[in-house]
Formats: sequence, structure tokens, C-alpha cells
Amino acid sequence: MEILLRDDLAALSDLDEKSLLEALSQRFSQNHIYTYIGDILVSVNPFKYLPLYEKEVAEQYKCHEKSSLPPHIFAVADKAYQSMLGRLGTGSRNQCIVISGESGAGKTESTKLLLRHIMDLCKANSALEQQILQVNPLLEAFGNSQTVMNDNSSRFGKYIQLRFLKSSVKGAKINEYLLEKSRVVHQDEGEQNFHIFYYMLAGISQEDKEMYGLLETSQYRYLNGGCGTEEMVRQWTTKYSEVCNAMDMVGFEEREKVDMMTVLAGILSLGNIVFEPSESDALRVAESAQGWLKASAGQFGVKEEELLRSLICTMSVTRGESICRFHNQQQAEDARDSIAKVVYGRIFGWIVTKINVLLAPNVDVGVDLKEIGILDIFGFENFTVNRYEQLCINLANEQLQYFFNHHIFLMEQKEYTEEGITWEAITFKDNKPILDLFLSKPIGIFSLLDEQSAFPQATDRDFVDKLNSKFKGSPHFEIARSRHPVFTVVHYAGKVQYNGNGFLEKNRDTIPGSIRDLFINSVTPLLSVLFTATISRTGTFMPRKAKLLQNSEDNFNSTRKQSVGAKFRHSLAVLMEKMFSANPHFVRCIKPNSKKQPDQVDERIMMDQLRYNGLLETIRIRKDGFSWRPSFEEFAQRYRILLFKPDLPLNKESCMEILNRTELRDWKCGTSRLFFKYWHQEELARSLERL
Ligand code: ATP
Ligand code: MG
Repeated sequence: MEILLRDDLAALSDLDEKSLLEALSQRFSQNHIYTYIGDILVSVNPFKYLPLYEKEVAEQYKCHEKSSLPPHIFAVADKAYQSMLGRLGTGSRNQCIVISGESGAGKTESTKLLLRHIMDLCKANSALEQQILQVNPLLEAFGNSQTVMNDNSSRFGKYIQLRFLKSSVKGAKINEYLLEKSRVVHQDEGEQNFHIFYYMLAGISQEDKEMYGLLETSQYRYLNGGCGTEEMVRQWTTKYSEVCNAMDMVGFEEREKVDMMTVLAGILSLGNIVFEPSESDALRVAESAQGWLKASAGQFGVKEEELLRSLICTMSVTRGESICRFHNQQQAEDARDSIAKVVYGRIFGWIVTKINVLLAPNVDVGVDLKEIGILDIFGFENFTVNRYEQLCINLANEQLQYFFNHHIFLMEQKEYTEEGITWEAITFKDNKPILDLFLSKPIGIFSLLDEQSAFPQATDRDFVDKLNSKFKGSPHFEIARSRHPVFTVVHYAGKVQYNGNGFLEKNRDTIPGSIRDLFINSVTPLLSVLFTATISRTGTFMPRKAKLLQNSEDNFNSTRKQSVGAKFRHSLAVLMEKMFSANPHFVRCIKPNSKKQPDQVDERIMMDQLRYNGLLETIRIRKDGFSWRPSFEEFAQRYRILLFKPDLPLNKESCMEILNRTELRDWKCGTSRLFFKYWHQEELARSLERL
């Protein structure tokens, strides 16, 4: 029992899946939600208020020794900050904190606590600190939504980089990954659209509502009839004013805010447009929806007939002649939804870019800034049906697992070197072959997808056939027998079957030229800018030509069309490069049950997460290595009884004398401690029993 309550489970000699699970749930039942496994912090979501984050607690976790206080997220923040400053004997280095876990496990809450504590540590208390802390409510309003897994689920991944000059914060930068744009037009049962729509409709004044042409929440098809209880509406109202404050604080201009709300209103009106057949070949907007077409065109600042045209037909130019191809019902609805998605996606991208411009460090070129990065990214996903999004998310998780393995593995190596012992390569389940399956060129899943996406005639089936023929026999790929275009990848965390339907289209993510033209001519400045230009580092808008001349990272409006997969791969590669050159810290978030309930542990659910989080793999690496490392003193003290010499001095020689009496093999002796395999301890225990 005593052992189960230890703060650092890596010290447990009989660390296996079962004891790990047991120890975590024991601790959890006593509200010890944080536990270390070596240098990894495991955090189990309490789903209830715990008095863990008060000012006095925060105060204790400033510049403290890890072992002297219970495990805590603030301790991770403190360690990262002190290491960044070079106060922990490692030299001043960039740091990264990797937070992982499945939806609802507590990643975003952990991110916020880390940010808060780091801001607290650098005693910034400046306008900049406030701005940095305000970024979260803003991003959450636009990028989070209620799902069945989590009432405040982040529908994008993010990497926040805090930049420091010595001990004070000078700026921040955010990278965002894979916003789930499809949520704008469709939500599954029990889920909602992005928060901002509900906040806006609840919080806006009657006068502004009229100005933006907004109606009640229940009127909008894209909002899934989600009116909300009275209590929810009250919360949304508060949230709306928080978002407005955050925008002011971060530095958005009034005009930009107004434009943004107008465009959001345009998206909602657009969603209510429905079509019906007419006497001609073209569809028309149903009589009852005429008003929505008008409203939407007005809100988008475009001509009604032009918006209509881009909904009901596709224009193409052949031999100098414009040809109009009319849409059928499905195509018209798809055109409507893809406009909504692209507009929302660009608004989100613009907000992030704008934040980055406003929070960019204001220091001279060449000043050496150090960084603490915090990664809050979707965990491994394995649903009944897994689509393109899951493929990208799981690739990111393979990358992180690779990073994690390397780190843990290298740490082991480092300790052996420090202790001066020779060691033969410890094997660890290297997931590099899986990464290669995804990323190799020219024959990897993503390369083949890009190749197929480049053929206008290719189908999802062709893509899957190609995979089947290229990866037949690969240990990480399985051909699935099905009438659907499905395939299976054997991930580090288990097998996932992907349904290839929609892969090519999602990977291409093309916006019809007519839509771009439509918005370029919008009289709403924000919209025309989003479709023609990009933002320079100084925050002013630049025309596209100027953009081509500068090598900007802000390429959300890049003219060279890259596939979604290629962009994602690139941003992952940039992220990995950053992380590999930084000193990492790991926070593994665990959800105790899937009902969002406090004080309940579902063992199967927990165990799955320990696996997906790579914690079991850590244990395996430890087992293959020398998991038990007692100091000479510790060892001699405990086992000198085997020699019946209670007064034997507690030193290396005594240890050797004891060990020579046993039949243990394969242990190693370092400069200050002994290195044993996990089974050695059991053998010694048996020897003690025989006495
Ligand atoms: P997603 O992947 O869906 O974004 P997530 O891992 O970011 O999920 P969070 O949004 O951080 O999950 O947490 C989900 C909910 O769990 C929070 O809204 C909060 O109610 C609760 N929660 C998380 N961490 C804590 C904590 N430390 N104390 C109390 N409640 C918490
Ligand atoms: Mg989150």
C-alpha cells in the first residue's frame, strides 16, 4: 500500500501494466491526480474542482526541487522555465512541453495552467503577459466546440512558443494544425458547431443583431437546432464579452471585429440556402430560402447573382470560351458547404496570423531569444470509421511517439554513460518503419495520395488499390477485404482501419476559382483580403504580388497549391525539428472514464490510454534495460543479512561481496550504484526468504 502511494512510479521495481494502473487509480481515489513516472508527469482528469491551483500552491512551486513537493503541473512549468534559464545545470536551452492524451483528458486545461504558471514565474505582469493569456479564450471560441467526448473540445492542434530574453517574456507565436472545418457545416448527434456562433448570438446586443442581420440560434441549420438552456445562454453571453475583451486586449481593431462578425453571420445565412429544380437546367434557390441568399450575399459583401452563380454552376474556360456546367442538387449543396468551410477556415487562419503579428517579440534582429514551446495536440484516434483526418492525426502521433521513444531511450543511455558502465543496445520498439510507410518518397502513403490527387479522374478506390499493391506484405499494412475502399495500418498503439472514401477530395481541398473571384471582389475588406492577400509581419495587409517577393511563413493564402497532406507533413517536419533541438518535458493526460464523471475509474478505458500514450512502452524499455538501480548503500543495507554480517560497511566492496555469494548474472556495477534487471530483485527476495 505504501508503495502505491509513491509520487514517482519509476522507482517501483515491479512496474508492469497492472501495477501501474493500480497505482494510478489508488492515487486518483485520494485526489492525487498527478504522478511521475521518471520525468514524465501523468495527469488523471478529476472532472471536479480540486484546490490545487491557488496562489499559495503556485507560490510553493517556484524554483523548488522536484522531489520535495507532490507531483504537479506547476512543477513541470517550473522545471521548463528554470532549464530554459540554464539554472538546472544543463546550460540555457530551448524547452518543449509535449502534452498528449485523448479527447477530454485535460490537455488544454494543462496547457492553460502551464502558461499561467510560466507567466507567473517570469513576473511579467505587463501588458504583454495579459495579451498572451488572452490568446486562449480567443482561440477556444473559434477553434473549440462541444462534442460527445468533451464540452470544450479543441478541434485543432496547437504549438504555443513563448519567447524569452533572459528571464522575461518578449513575445509568443502560435502554430495551428488541422482545424476541423467540416464542423461548420455538419455536426453529429449531440455535438455543436464552434463555440463562437453560440456566443455571438447570445451575447450580441439587439441593435448589433439587427446591424449584422442575425436571427435566433434556432433559425440556423448549421447550428443543429442548438438553442441551449437558459443557463447555457447566460454562459454564452459571458463568454461573448470575454471574447470581445480578448480581441481588444490582443489588439484587434474595431473594424476587423465588425467584419469578422459580419462574415460569421454570412456563413450562418448561407447554410440556410436550399435548392429546388426549375424549368431550365439550372437549379434555383427555393422560394422560402430566397431571403437567406440575399442576406448571405449582403453579409459577404458580394453580388447576389454572383453568389448564386457560384452555387448552382461551375464555370470553366475552354478555348477562350466560358462554359457553364450546371450543378445537380448534391453539387449545389456541396458548393454551399465548401464556401462556408473555406471562409471559416480562413477567418481562423487570419486570427492566428493576426495574433502572431501582435505578439511578435519587439527586439532587435540577432538578439538571442530562448523558447518554451507547449504542444497541445489531438491524441491517437481509433473510431468505428476512420477517415482522412484520423490518418493525419495518427501520423502526428506516430511522430510524437518516435520523439518520445528516442528521448526515453537516450535518457537510459545517458545514465549508463554517466555511471561508466558499458551497455549493449537495449532494443525498443522503434516505430520508424511505420513513419516510413507514411512518409517515404516516392512510395509512401502520403506520396501515393498526392500522386493520385493530381489525377482529376482518379478515385479513392484507385488510391487504395495502389496502396494494396505497393504495401502488400509490409508488416505495418494490411489489405482489407471489403466492398469499400478500406485499408489497415498497424500503428504503435494498435491496428486502425481507414475508410478511403473522400481521401482524394480532402487532400486536394480545392476551392473553385469562381469562389476565389467572388470574394476577391467583396466590399467587406476582411473577405477580399482573405482571398487575395496575406498579412505582413507588421500587421498590414499586402497584396499577393508583394507576398511572392518575400519569403513569408504566413502562407495561408499561398498561390502555389499544395495538398493538405503536403502542408501538414511540412508543418510536422518543422515542429519535429524544433522539438528535437529542444529539451523535452512530457505530460500524459488520462481520462478516468468516458462519462466526464468525477471519482470514477474505468479500468479498461484507462489501460487503453496507458497504451496509446506510450506509457507501457516506457515500461518495456525500462524492463529491457536495468530497471532497478539501487545505490551501493541502499543495496548493502538491505542484503548484508545474506552474509549474516549486520555490520558490513555500506560501500561498493560489500555489495560485490554480497553479489558474489548469489547466483545473479547480468547485473552491472556503476560508479555510484548497481544496475539490475527487474527479475534480479525477485531472485534476491527469494534468497532472503530462504534464510
Ligand atoms: P480535446 O482533445 O477534446 O481538446 P482536452 O484533452 O484538451 O480534450 P480539456 O478540454 O483540457 O481536454 O479538459 C476537458 C474537461 O475536463 C475540462 O473542460 C474540465 O471540465 C475538465 N478538467 C480537465 N483538467 C482538469 C483539472 N485539472 N481540474 C478540474 N477539471 C479538469
Ligand atoms: Mg483541448
